[in-house]
Amino acid sequence: SKVPSLTLNNGVAMPQLGFGVWQVPDDEAAQAVGTALEAGYRSIDTAAIYENEKGTGEAVAACGIPREELFVTTKLWNGEQGYDTTLRAFDASLARLGLDYVDLYLIHWPMPAKDAYVDTYKAFEAVLADGRARAIGVSNFLPEHLERLLAETSVVPAVNQIELHPQFQQAESRAFHAKHGIATEAWSPLGQGRGLLEVPTVVAIAQKHGRTPAQVVLRWHLQLGNVVIPKSVTPSRIRENIDVFDFELDTDDLAAFAALDEGRRLGPDPATFNLGA
Ligand code: NAD
Repeated sequence: SKVPSLTLNNGVAMPQLGFGVWQVPDDEAAQAVGTALEAGYRSIDTAAIYENEKGTGEAVAACGIPREELFVTTKLWNGEQGYDTTLRAFDASLARLGLDYVDLYLIHWPMPAKDAYVDTYKAFEAVLADGRARAIGVSNFLPEHLERLLAETSVVPAVNQIELHPQFQQAESRAFHAKHGIATEAWSPLGQGRGLLEVPTVVAIAQKHGRTPAQVVLRWHLQLGNVVIPKSVTPSRIRENIDVFDFELDTDDLAAFAALDEGRRLGPDPATFNLGA
């Protein structure tokens, strides 16, 4: 595959660009994931709550690509947090995916008010130890939540998957992750296609390089060192979003992107988000 990999803190290689499937219905997931695999994607990001692990697994089973060349991520939903419930939920995700291991298992949200993410993570450590996840990590964790895991558990999370795009650049989290050897994975890397791709600065940088706005935004992430998982169900966009490894943004472009940060989330605040608890 033409997508470069990052080496996670336990030595496992993770493609720096993957395919996200949030909001893809289960009966369309096999086709969308199949299109992505044909286009060269090798990493797929799903979650129990997306209710498309089954369709995702069907595409993986049908694609003919050796399992060891693929990188499959899924996530534990909020209502399943706790040690025993996590072990059961993990079994159920594997069964729906039709796999005997995942490459990365993530706690979807910290839900600090429930105070269960430390026990949950200890179950993740057990899943890692028995080889059914090659790496474990978290999603939507603020530095204070990571600090607790670092203090109270043994395995440093390999990844924190967080909302991150040019209008919400997450400098503090990225610095914290870098300091502790945690890879930063950007969700909604294109800002959900809600305005970012029409911002004049982005359009101008795209025109300068003869590329699309989505492509220069993805390039910005890659040059920052982020893992990205753009989502689309449109075959031409699926291909467009992986066609980003033959050009580079220059320092002027990066400075212009830096000025776009508004410090405003599109999604929920991890300090209070409790859906499905
Ligand atoms: P995204 O930033 O990837 O944007 C996707 C949308 O952008 C598409 O639906 C489409 O409208 C548009 N788009 C995509 N490619 C385009 C192109 N080339 N040109 C123009 N428009 C284009 O948003 P997302 O789906 O929210 O995030 C990506 C993935 O991140 C998800 O599918 C999911 O896997 C993950 N995610 C995780 C969490 C979490 O809590 N961990 C939350 C949200 C998303």
